[in-house]
Amino acid sequence: MKTFCGRANPTTGAMEWLEEDESYDYHQEIARSRYADMLHDKDRNVKYYQGIRAAVSRVKERGEKAIVLDIGTGTGLLSMMAASAGADFCYAVEVFRPMANAAVKIVEKNGFSDKIKVINKHSTEVTVGPDGDMQCRANILVTELFDTELIGEGALPTYEHAHKHLVQEGCEAVPHRATVYVQLVESRRMWSWNKLFPVRVEAEDGEKIIVSPSEMENCPGVPSVCDIQLNQMPSSDFTILSDVVTMFSVDFSKPVRSASTCYRVQLEAIKSGKAQIVLSWWDIDMDPSGKINCTMAPYWVKPTSALQWRDHWMQCVYFLPNEEAVSQGENVYLTAYRDEYSLWYKLQKAREEENKADVRVESPVCRCQAHLLWNRPRFGELNDQNRTCQYIKSLVKVLKTDSVCLCISDGSLLPVLAHYLGAKQFLKANHLEDKIKILEARPESLTSSHLEDKKISVLLGEPFFTTSLLPWHNLYFWYARTAVTMHLASDVTVLPQSASLHMMIVEFQDLWRIRSPCGTCEGFDVRTMDDMIKNSLNFRESKEAEPHPLWEYPCKSLSDPQEVLTFDFRRTVPQHCLSAEGSLNLLRKGKSHGAVLWMEYHLTADISVNTGLTQISNDKGNCEWNPHCKQAVYFFSSVIDSETQTDLPSAVTYTINFDPKTGEITMDFKL
Ligand code: SAH
Repeated sequence: MKTFCGRANPTTGAMEWLEEDESYDYHQEIARSRYADMLHDKDRNVKYYQGIRAAVSRVKERGEKAIVLDIGTGTGLLSMMAASAGADFCYAVEVFRPMANAAVKIVEKNGFSDKIKVINKHSTEVTVGPDGDMQCRANILVTELFDTELIGEGALPTYEHAHKHLVQEGCEAVPHRATVYVQLVESRRMWSWNKLFPVRVEAEDGEKIIVSPSEMENCPGVPSVCDIQLNQMPSSDFTILSDVVTMFSVDFSKPVRSASTCYRVQLEAIKSGKAQIVLSWWDIDMDPSGKINCTMAPYWVKPTSALQWRDHWMQCVYFLPNEEAVSQGENVYLTAYRDEYSLWYKLQKAREEENKADVRVESPVCRCQAHLLWNRPRFGELNDQNRTCQYIKSLVKVLKTDSVCLCISDGSLLPVLAHYLGAKQFLKANHLEDKIKILEARPESLTSSHLEDKKISVLLGEPFFTTSLLPWHNLYFWYARTAVTMHLASDVTVLPQSASLHMMIVEFQDLWRIRSPCGTCEGFDVRTMDDMIKNSLNFRESKEAEPHPLWEYPCKSLSDPQEVLTFDFRRTVPQHCLSAEGSLNLLRKGKSHGAVLWMEYHLTADISVNTGLTQISNDKGNCEWNPHCKQAVYFFSSVIDSETQTDLPSAVTYTINFDPKTGEITMDFKL
């Protein structure tokens, strides 16, 4: 069997599909999977166990045999819980082959092979009957098929099918019910992830404002969920406009309908403001009474002491199609629309309520193209006026009235800024069609005729490319710059003139969990899973750094930040590797979970934009990160705890290597 895996190629700026053979065995998928995070989710595991025990008891009290169907068994955890709780037999269904294989091993190791049958199929392919996968229908349905949006992983169609074909009528379900909650807020910060705000440009002849076209203003955006660690959003970044209300519930013990539908609730504005965002999360009741409840509610809704950190379930941010002013005491109607896999929202004023016939169920489709080009963090970055100011200041320094500029970046506003700063007259509604030419050519196939035989005097880049995953993938700018060398004037200005890679050793508050072994989970030995993840992490590129937006994942610095490599864009990409060796002294006590790396772009000699650490905020070493960018995280395979090393000031030594042939950076650390 052949597998195709998508990879970004930083030397071409393109996505490429690599064909992997049988021995590949989904290492990247396993190394980056959420299984470890789920196994570390104590709150979830304890409550599932309680719910499963209660369901098995209820069935036994009725004098029936307890036959369990566990859909999406993963490591086999929930089936093992059921078997321990006294279930007579469990059918553990898992579609992902490497996981089904792991489940077989884990079940065997824990001594449940006679009670649990692992079925490597999608649940909709499972057969019931004397010759089927299952001897008979189950009377307990256990699943954990939820994502942050609840239904994004296909829970509804899976339940719908299971009730029709795989479980008995009146079965017990763990969880028994899920409930989705919403709260209306105003937030300039979150709204900036979905709309382009006017950009102010201070030019010599006064302030100019770049406005977005009306198609963009009125565009409903894209339906993909925006899931974040809402607990990292300070309360000063949003204004609550309504109480928390229940949007809808799903009872998993009864037949479930997955067909598109909508739900409507009435809300009273508790404050005047602009309704822009619907914040949403869910909880699950593990039993019918609702006493065993596992909730994703954020910090302002429940006491912080009760917060369980997890990354596999977070909270959702939904953008209303347009902002709507509401006044305190006013009643508004919020409608949630859903199809099988996703949700979206619409707000209506009370007076428009008669218009109930409007059950528009199509999901939002971007009409302006911008939402297809820019993801949410990119919108936020473009709306960051401080960042824009750095570009403006540096453009002012390098631009001349007769400059011929070439900008290489995806969906960049730099050409517009450059034009405004050089423009003689005030241009009103961004009519720039004849001033800015979009070249539909890749840098390497650029010809003199594209450039009307002119030489480029200013080469610009943010740089930003949509295919970049890790910070240094934007070095594609360097490759593009190299490819256009023949078109550059001898005194060309390249902006940014260079980039530098920075690194720091950190202790994560929580993120370490996603890549750390679990050992036992609620008394079950899951080391097979730990070994499998470790094996995959050591497989080729998976061993390298991974991208994470660190504003969502608190950490403290254990070393000073250090510049480790520089890339000079005034020159072409070198033939040889760039490497650096050195050491980072551990200045603070703590657990060295890994190294964080980020890029800084030096626009001119004295103006830089930083995509990583913005500040170490206190003597404890708490870090503040650029809120629009992902940083690279390299998890150490073994953690050193400097709390236990009292005498020696410990250090971490590193070797870092940039290979110009692949555009990748590899690294090695010794603790
Ligand atoms: N039950 C485990 C793992 C949950 S992750 C635990 O609680 O720890 C969800 C798993 O379900 C994934 O491994 C995924 O591959 C699998 N899955 C999702 N939908 C499925 C379906 N309809 N049939 C079979 N497996 C499914």
